[in-house]
Amino acid sequence: MENWYLPNGLVYRESHLKRESGLILDGHVVAFGDKADELRSDFLGEVKDFDGKNKIVSRGFVDLHVHLREPGFETKETILTGTQGAAYGGFTNICAMPNTNPPLDTVERLLDLRDRIAKTAQVKVHPIATLTKNRQGQDMINYAAFGEKGVFLFSDDGDPLEQHIARKVFQEVQKVGGILINHLEDKSLIQEGFFYEQIPPESEYLMLKRDLKLVRETGCRYHAAHLSCAEAVELIAQAKAQGLPVTAEVTPHHLTLTYEDIKEPKGHFQMKAPLRTEWDRKALVDGLRTGVIDCVATDHAPHGREKEHGLYEGSPFGVTGLETAFPVLYTNLVLTKQLSLERLLTSLTSAPAQLLGVTPELSLGAEADLVVLDLNRIKMVGVDGFRSKGTNSPYTGQFLQGWPVLTLVDGEECYSWK
Ligand SMILES: [Zn+2]
Repeated sequence: MENWYLPNGLVYRESHLKRESGLILDGHVVAFGDKADELRSDFLGEVKDFDGKNKIVSRGFVDLHVHLREPGFETKETILTGTQGAAYGGFTNICAMPNTNPPLDTVERLLDLRDRIAKTAQVKVHPIATLTKNRQGQDMINYAAFGEKGVFLFSDDGDPLEQHIARKVFQEVQKVGGILINHLEDKSLIQEGFFYEQIPPESEYLMLKRDLKLVRETGCRYHAAHLSCAEAVELIAQAKAQGLPVTAEVTPHHLTLTYEDIKEPKGHFQMKAPLRTEWDRKALVDGLRTGVIDCVATDHAPHGREKEHGLYEGSPFGVTGLETAFPVLYTNLVLTKQLSLERLLTSLTSAPAQLLGVTPELSLGAEADLVVLDLNRIKMVGVDGFRSKGTNSPYTGQFLQGWPVLTLVDGEECYSWK
């Protein structure tokens, strides 16, 4: 077990940044400030020093929406490569979406997945189970069996929950105290194509409207995935004002890009929900700033080399995000004064952590899942390759500022800037 002494850093805890030292022994945070300095000088065992000067020390990031692709699509990503990308991006806890092959719809498959995670994962992986058998939208799975195994997030991500089964699923997920995550895309409202004209905002917010009605009727806890339009933000605001048990996430790309950024027909800009207008983007940033949107989630969706052939035709949907999330948001939103650094950190740490039920922030006795960020570090995206097998980042070639330089999971180094 590694021990760490982090002097001089700006430590983010209790929603504030404070210059103080931190000491980690045996995988846990044991002291801050003067106490950490004292204990460090008295401690006789081996301790690694990491100077936090000009750096932020925070709880490691938590991502509620990641596609690790294993089992079934290992050419796109594996648990090993996906979690290496996560560690590089400062994420210590990530939720794995169940659209694998086979999909995660039985406890036997959960045990197999946990086995794989134990063997190769570099950070903590929290599986999300499907909403329906085989993600086909016809039959329900045994939600209680997953609940007994500590899994309480359910999603058929990639496919929406259709009308004929939706109410029953909301009722059953509510009974086990689960959280229902729906992929908001009414297929009857979209056309063949990739742009926001073909996948209009109505396909998202009309389904959200239906879901919120079901939340009201069933009391089921609900989390809205990757919001992309202004109308959806407004609906979440209304639902929260009414006291409904609702949370929402937004991706770094929807917060920083619009359809006007698609200069050439590259698959790297092709995702669901699609990039929309500046008006929508601003509404998403406002939603995040005011807390209507709770957290940032990357929807990390690697596709191996498939995207490289890629013009729009035949290119799969989805872009990567784990490795670039913080620098993208710091450069584009914090440095431009659209979002405070504290709010950005909360939306990547305590907000998703509370939803997931893991330690929300650095605190005495907590496990040392931690990231150190160098806000002055500037790097071009992709210049040293990607750890993920997915190279489909819309930010490739851009210079971004504010990179993770050290990531610890239970006090063990899983990434450091070399
Ligand atoms: Zn997704």
